[in-house]
Amino acid sequence: MISPSADKKFAVINPARMCQPLGAVHALLGVKGAMPLIHGSQGCSTYMRFQLCRHFREPINISSTSMSESTVVYGGEKNLIKALDIITRQYKPELIGVTSSCLTETIGDDMELIIANFLKSNNDFPVIPISTPSYTGSHVEGYNQALRALVEKLVNPVSVRHSGEKSTIGSTYTDKKLNNLRGDPKYTNKNYNGKINLITGLISPSDVFSMKILLQEMGLESIILTDTSQSLHLPLNGEINFIPSQGTTIAQIKDTIHSRATICISRHADSAGIFLEKNFGVKLINIPLPVGLSATDHLVETLSVVGNKKIPENINLQRGQLLDAMVDAHAYNYKRRVAIYGEPDMVTGLTRFLSELGMHPVVVCTGTQSNIFQDEIESLAREHGHDIQIISGGDLYDLEQKIVEEDVELLLGNSYSARIASEKNIPLIRVGFPVFDRIGAQRINITGYQAGLNLLDTITNTIIERYYEPGRDDKI
Ligand code: SF4
Repeated sequence: MISPSADKKFAVINPARMCQPLGAVHALLGVKGAMPLIHGSQGCSTYMRFQLCRHFREPINISSTSMSESTVVYGGEKNLIKALDIITRQYKPELIGVTSSCLTETIGDDMELIIANFLKSNNDFPVIPISTPSYTGSHVEGYNQALRALVEKLVNPVSVRHSGEKSTIGSTYTDKKLNNLRGDPKYTNKNYNGKINLITGLISPSDVFSMKILLQEMGLESIILTDTSQSLHLPLNGEINFIPSQGTTIAQIKDTIHSRATICISRHADSAGIFLEKNFGVKLINIPLPVGLSATDHLVETLSVVGNKKIPENINLQRGQLLDAMVDAHAYNYKRRVAIYGEPDMVTGLTRFLSELGMHPVVVCTGTQSNIFQDEIESLAREHGHDIQIISGGDLYDLEQKIVEEDVELLLGNSYSARIASEKNIPLIRVGFPVFDRIGAQRINITGYQAGLNLLDTITNTIIERYYEPGRDDKI
């Protein structure tokens, strides 16, 4: 049986989602020279810094307009203008991304207008307003809002045109449709820069890096929206940077309008791709997060067709090795009852991969209310003949109840699920955001064939360690 999403609630017990501007800040931290500014009270920026620092274990700077009692009564215009002025003079960022907060959305501050007033005397400086009232969504929506705002505000609106082309949203992007692209003159037109825009969604710096390497191995140039692979995984070299010294540049974001296509591997972060397709004819190809065999196949085939490149032998080799490991591990993993918790794209990707391994995802949970998530999990459940309890927009209390009901043997989720795992004596594999009770969160890698291989080993060895006692040959 597949359950409907959690009932509308009037109390949340241990929320399973982060706040909306935090997702926007995450996206901004992948832009070189960008300073995030929270238009709200100081506590909001403290909370976000705290979450991001303890997950990425990097120094992260987030500024605040420091709203107080009187500014709430009289409006935050003065604070916002002053904050923008101080930040531009003292820190000289290349861009400021201003996110709203619950407070400033509720009092109705018109950030667009305030920023427009500021820009009258600071003409060429990019200040990007991003509306992120946390009561309307999670960090997943905040990330999506930030990408859209970055692209929309930085590209030249004068050259906007409408292609009339429909987006290929959905995971139904078949080989036949891909083959039709081969003859499309758009992909050989000299006006295009030949690059692929890649929207990654909320994945780890290590996963962003894997995707960049995959594109390089395919012989493709890319623009990553946004590139946290180094800005949130810094080398120790004696330099102290107040704002990201690495990441996607403003010039690259502007150049996205000339790319041959946008490939979005997040079903919840495609609004920038939709904007580019509608206004600049840059085709949007929306495919699942490449976790495991079939989803990585989907990405590799898409890159091959859109980039008109042959799949290199090394990538085929990695695929074959993953397939071999799946066969090797099958006896240990078959029918194991698993719960998966975290961001919706990640949970869907892991559900697909674990189903490919012969495991049975019995409970999936995300704190983000999402019909896309619900539909995708239902489709996977039908495909694999599984009953899956789906919690969309739920909390940790919901997750715990279902874990007990469904007799779960393994849990994949972030550090907030560690208490449940410990109390119910279930092994936990830490993935997603935040992971603060272990080190290496920025290196948790789940996308692509090689990461699938490593994840498979971790899952299988966890199962062996927990459920097959050493020396008990009869149980193995
Ligand atoms: S008040 Fe709103 S914006 Fe600020 S930290 Fe809380 S949820 Fe986030």
